[in-house]
Amino acid sequence: MDHFLYKNGTLHAEDVAIPEIAAAVGTPFYVYSTATLTRHYQLFTDALSPLPHLVCFAIKSLSNVAVLKTLGNLGAGMDVVSGGEYLRAKAAGVPGDRIVFSGVGKTREEMRLTLTGGIRQFNVESEPEMRALSEVATSLGVTAPITIRVNPDVDARTHEKIATGKKENKFGIPIARASEVYSEAARLPGLKIVGIDVHIGSQLTELEPFEQAYLKVADLTRRLRSEGHTITRLDLGGGLGIPYTRSNEAPPLPTDYGALIKRTVGDLGCEVEIEPGRLISGNAGILVSKVIYVKNGEGRDFLILDAAMNDLVRPSMYGAHHDIVPVAEPPVAAPTQEFDVVGPVCETGDTFAKGRDLPLVGEGDLVAFRSAGAYGAVMASEYNTRPLVPEVLVNGDQFAVIRARPSFDEILNRDSIPSWL
Ligand SMILES: *Cc1c(COP(=O)(O)O)cnc(C)c1O
Repeated sequence: MDHFLYKNGTLHAEDVAIPEIAAAVGTPFYVYSTATLTRHYQLFTDALSPLPHLVCFAIKSLSNVAVLKTLGNLGAGMDVVSGGEYLRAKAAGVPGDRIVFSGVGKTREEMRLTLTGGIRQFNVESEPEMRALSEVATSLGVTAPITIRVNPDVDARTHEKIATGKKENKFGIPIARASEVYSEAARLPGLKIVGIDVHIGSQLTELEPFEQAYLKVADLTRRLRSEGHTITRLDLGGGLGIPYTRSNEAPPLPTDYGALIKRTVGDLGCEVEIEPGRLISGNAGILVSKVIYVKNGEGRDFLILDAAMNDLVRPSMYGAHHDIVPVAEPPVAAPTQEFDVVGPVCETGDTFAKGRDLPLVGEGDLVAFRSAGAYGAVMASEYNTRPLVPEVLVNGDQFAVIRARPSFDEILNRDSIPSWL
């Protein structure tokens, strides 16, 4: 469910007509819906109630500070994976005690930054990291609250590039070694064990892998407690998938996911954290682009857009599908045509869709990529010196540019010429 619907024959973001934004901002651009972000956050927090819980938005899916502030104002926590993301959360006014720090390669500098600025917990992913954190915390004279990310060795049954919970993945410590690692953590100065962390992957379309992982976490909680550790908090990660096609069978709902959490870990008396990214941001954003040319090739027709792989890389990186719709609503039963939808970047990989059946569109028409809020703008680059794609936030009948398109002067001024040239 989202808030990008046709009204009076034109695609709208909430109550704002997309062509109105296009006229003000130019194309391509991302536009996000406050109502959708709010609704999705609320679904999760309702699904976990009355368990004590914190929904920590995975910033890496969509990191614009205005989006973070929208969610932070509702009470959301944040899951960050770098010092930069931490600073974004802070800039959005989210207090440190609602920020969790994940990631396999936290540097000592990032540890100092977050320990000084305030942090809810570190999700520690290895023994060397744990020892480094102990040193940094001790040198600052503070205590770092930690969970240890365990790798439960379950198959998330998702795309291989975003599965993280199999033993061959780089994430976490093998669950079989948890006792040993927790006992070392308990001996190290400057660390305070608060719980357990797990995250098995992204775009999961079934609940079963979550169930397997959370049952293992429940067992581990009992075992670690019996070994004398204080486990009061379970971070259960993110990863719930979203529908990318209208026809797709629907992935599980947050309510079912919440019920599963209550069923598997609800009786342990722990505070629960989850780290959804995509399910909050994915369907809260679209990418709007303009048709530059319709090119008739040999046996196929190309729709050449002004958006490219540098603006939305998911199709070329993961073979991901995004529905593409015209901004002007096509008449019912309007004829369609098969297109290869491509961008202007000089790579064959710059292809959004092959043989896609689309209503007739022509030069200058606007089209929208649906479900582009997550892992869209955050992965954008300036490849081919295409200015970084701008972002717009809609709230009811208002909209605001929340990241402007850089000018070519700004882009060129970032380069500098060494003195010998
Ligand atoms: C990527 C990631 C998430 C968010 O995943 P989604 O699929 O966007 O929900 C949460 N936690 C960790 C540790 C991650 O790496």
